[in-house]
Amino acid sequence: MLRALANAALSILSPPRCAACDAALGRDAALCAGCLSTLEPPPPLPPGTSASFAYGGALAEAVRATKFGPRPERLRALQRLVIERVREAHGFEPARGGVALVAPVPLHPARLRERGFDQAAILAQAVAAALARPCDVALLARRIDTPHVASLDAPGRAKAVKGAFVLRDPGRARHAGTVLLVDDVRTTGATLEAAAGPLRAAGLEVRAHVLAATAID
Ligand SMILES: [Zn+2]
Repeated sequence: MLRALANAALSILSPPRCAACDAALGRDAALCAGCLSTLEPPPPLPPGTSASFAYGGALAEAVRATKFGPRPERLRALQRLVIERVREAHGFEPARGGVALVAPVPLHPARLRERGFDQAAILAQAVAAALARPCDVALLARRIDTPHVASLDAPGRAKAVKGAFVLRDPGRARHAGTVLLVDDVRTTGATLEAAAGPLRAAGLEVRAHVLAATAID
């Protein structure tokens, strides 16, 4: 009862808004109808990698907007969107080979301090809940900051992120089996590959799911 009242009070204080264009929404949803209509299914991706949608349009706007203004309702909207297609891609598997643990592609500590939140970690938590698997937001650490990676071409990106990630505590991952890495956007796949490196070196299988993916050139 108290919780219902508190939720009602919250929704009056912050009525649902479209995560992309900020339009007020009449109902609790991630995006307005106009923005929703710009969402496209994901492009073909390498085996083991899936995405909820193609990168672009309103989704690109929502991802950008969230990075610069992490309002709780925007993050919730992205959490709703990131679980699209994740069960089909990674949920219904025999125990052997199925996803055992969900982990985000981590931010560098300097970036986390600057931004105040970790978008991939927030998305990973939603994916873990959708798959009913545990989420370990501290499985990997990012030791090399790559703030300007977006301006690089594919080989440049791969070089910039090589060795950027380490397994924080190898003992923690020992029994994990298959790890599902989660990130907000996949462009060339270089970052996901770099993050998968230390996990594979520890003998783990790695898959990936992202909110939005750009087509492979
Ligand atoms: Zn909108």
